Amino acid sequence: METEKVRCLIVGSGPAGYTAALYAGRANLSPVLYEGITPGGQLMTTTEVENFPGYPDGVSSFQLMEDLRKQAERFGAEVRRGVVTAADLKNGRPFRVTIDGKQELLAETIIVATGASARYLGLPSESRFMGMGVSGCATCDGFFYRRKKVAVVGGGDTACEDAIYLSALAEKVYLIVRKNYLRASQILQQRVREVANIEVLFEYNTKEVLGDENGVTGALLEKADGSERTIAIDGFFLAIGHHPNTGPFADQLELTDEGYIKTWPDTTETSVRGVFAAGDIQDPCYRQAIVAAGSGCMAALDCERFLMTHGESGGALACSLNQ
Ligand code: NDP
Repeated sequence: METEKVRCLIVGSGPAGYTAALYAGRANLSPVLYEGITPGGQLMTTTEVENFPGYPDGVSSFQLMEDLRKQAERFGAEVRRGVVTAADLKNGRPFRVTIDGKQELLAETIIVATGASARYLGLPSESRFMGMGVSGCATCDGFFYRRKKVAVVGGGDTACEDAIYLSALAEKVYLIVRKNYLRASQILQQRVREVANIEVLFEYNTKEVLGDENGVTGALLEKADGSERTIAIDGFFLAIGHHPNTGPFADQLELTDEGYIKTWPDTTETSVRGVFAAGDIQDPCYRQAIVAAGSGCMAALDCERFLMTHGESGGALACSLNQ
């Protein structure tokens, strides 16, 4: 049986992937998008989205992703269930890609939009209250905690930024730090110290997230000497880092020191010609749905230009991004 050929393969179904599919569809690239493990991507871990332009009354994350998918399909994008489990980027175009460990296809171009995942502590109680007070994104969900009490876990730049962001909304913010110092940059540490409603709790680990059928009500914290403390909170925010979902692309594309896919400045081009990266997989900084959607658009335009210039199946020329 002949192996299926795809002009534009899009991997990932977050805002970056769907927007890339929308633009690639309108450019007649006949894009095929594989949804990956979590159709809808990271946004599906939240409930209500209030900061995506075009929805003045907010929108449920499910509805937003459904709208993005339908809009892409309207222009011919084919959205498929499945996970890209292997990809050979080293032997030139077309790239040989394996879906779900069994089915193979040949892709003239690939847009990697596999996102990043917030790290969680791994507590069962944390999973139980996911989307019911537990969140990995302060800028996405902070607005729901106006005049309430929240906690942020972590001692790095993200944790401090999140605590400062939340302090403008919430009545009280606890910053739970496992060491006896913050790892964040001095300027952020200073800002944290200057905000009256942030209380830093050093040398505490979270033992349990507490709650009831309405969501989070508190957290049980523990020190290394075994002493415990309970705090009353409505929201529990994780800021202990993210891990980019580079999967089968990790050892074939140039990555940053933090493991994100490197792209040429102001483009979505990666170290392999014909392979593009969009969304959080190449953005450790902004991590916003609208930014991911914007870079998905860029990736489709870059892809279209690439196909116009290089046509079908040239060689996959590697190009160092350090030049
Ligand atoms: P970091 O890896 O820098 O910090 C993670 C924090 O979470 C650390 O304090 C770490 O503690 C803590 N942590 C990790 N695991 C656990 C755990 N299981 N329980 C409790 N605490 C835990 O991640 P960030 O997201 O903060 O930053 C990532 C990168 O992005 C950094 O390079 C940062 O500088 C950059 N960044 C820059 C910003 C800016 O410049 N404005 C804003 C946001 C991020 P410990 O210290 O004990 O290891």
